[in-house]
Amino acid sequence: YQVPFVGNEPVLSYAPGSAERKELLATYKKMYQEIVEVPQYIGNKIVKSGNKGEIRPPHDHQHIVGYYHKGTQEDVKEAINEALKARKEWADLPWEQRASIFLKAADLIAGPYRARINAATMIGQSKNAFQAEIDSACELIDFLRFNVEFMTQIYADQPISSEGIWNRVEYRPLEGFTFAITPFNFTAISGNLPACMAMMGNVVVWKPSDKQVYSAQVIMEVFKEAGLPDGVINMVLTGGAETAKTCIEHPDFAGLHFTGSTSVFKALWKQIGDNINTHKTYPRIVGETGGKDFVVAHGSSDAKEVATALVRGAFEYQGQKCSAASRAYIAKSIWPAVKDEMKKALDSISVGSPEDFSNFVTAVIDKNSFDKSKGYIERAQASSEAEVVLGGTCDDSVGYFVHPTVIETTNPKYESMVEEIFGPVLTVYVFEDEKWEETLELVDQTSDYALTGAIFAKDRYVLNQGMKALENAAGNFYINDKPTGAVVGQQPFGGARASGTNDKAGSAMNLMRWISVRTIKETF
Ligand code: GLU
Repeated sequence: YQVPFVGNEPVLSYAPGSAERKELLATYKKMYQEIVEVPQYIGNKIVKSGNKGEIRPPHDHQHIVGYYHKGTQEDVKEAINEALKARKEWADLPWEQRASIFLKAADLIAGPYRARINAATMIGQSKNAFQAEIDSACELIDFLRFNVEFMTQIYADQPISSEGIWNRVEYRPLEGFTFAITPFNFTAISGNLPACMAMMGNVVVWKPSDKQVYSAQVIMEVFKEAGLPDGVINMVLTGGAETAKTCIEHPDFAGLHFTGSTSVFKALWKQIGDNINTHKTYPRIVGETGGKDFVVAHGSSDAKEVATALVRGAFEYQGQKCSAASRAYIAKSIWPAVKDEMKKALDSISVGSPEDFSNFVTAVIDKNSFDKSKGYIERAQASSEAEVVLGGTCDDSVGYFVHPTVIETTNPKYESMVEEIFGPVLTVYVFEDEKWEETLELVDQTSDYALTGAIFAKDRYVLNQGMKALENAAGNFYINDKPTGAVVGQQPFGGARASGTNDKAGSAMNLMRWISVRTIKETF
């Protein structure tokens, strides 16, 4: 099979005066004034409970852009029933027919829905236009299209046969229903997690984050318009813990596709274990769960390149990426130059609403997140082991704005070198150039996470030393580049240790978790 696309979706530049900028801004402004109502999608029903939660832009928290209709556990049970009812027909559909729906969805996002899904992501999740474009447009489109390419590879793989015997494998979906829990920080992830499972023939109960409901609704609209049959993906807007309990305790629970925190994922894993005697099959468990991602720069590296990687890696989307650079180890000989370059870059960027396309940094997602970053900054200001060397201002009067902040510490195990903050706060430990090997060991030993990491050096032997010493420290390892921005089809994404099950998003490895294969031997 040749699937009908070539390569990654081109990223639009939104240059001043461009048609795409005008369209996105007009869409944003219109959506900002309307009142949106986000329902649940259960079977063929669009459910508006009347029990409403508010949707407020994090960068303008006194403004209400709409409401989402909260559901109950009865709704979750109904979603499970609707999914199970839809299962047979969906699973029996030839895979090309399923794939076509998602290719159509990708085209709808690339075309008529692009401005709407980007604007929803800008308003609801406070992404600037460029961060919205690479996420809710390009990455989501890429996930959907590349997954179809991966499907062709998976389904084409057949065992050998011999005279009088025909062996074959039948790629069946899991028996039962699957469950997706998705985070606020990537619209692409929220669409991809339920889509991955559905594409492989599964039926899904999907619980998006309360902080991402605006763009989640656009995803459901797109899937419906692309022809996704009722009941295949059911979106519920219910409490996370209770919803997980209802799904996991169901005997037909067949798999969890999760992106979120390590503590929640571990709790769910235990809960699945506790219910294993009533499950009809061993549920598949796939999770991506955070990081404490490093940048380590050898004395031979280029200070400007390191500074750019730190500014982009730590502060794009306010550091709210699992992949964000949050602990840096910089050789003493280059630190003054790196700091200087970072200062220049940070002096030239602005912080504010995404409506102004020149703002590089906008608000963090909510009050909790704001308080968390502020707490780390204030404790560093008061600490004898740390110093705030750049940024450090926080203001939540209009929106939850935290200025990009760099903390320098003399203690490599200082709290912000170890704990995940999920905000625009980077901590730097400066090491003596001759202590390169000890530093690599420190990088490896400091965190339980192993999601992303970057090494900077010019010398190939030094790079190789780093590659070896850090072989278990990051599922996505970058050489002389920032540790964020994995592209579907180019850098399959995921980490190990406390960062997840490493079933690489954006690859066939992930899709293969959602199938249960029947091997057939026929003798003539
Ligand atoms: N895939 C994203 C990146 O490479 C990060 C995803 C996440 O934050 O979960 O930056």
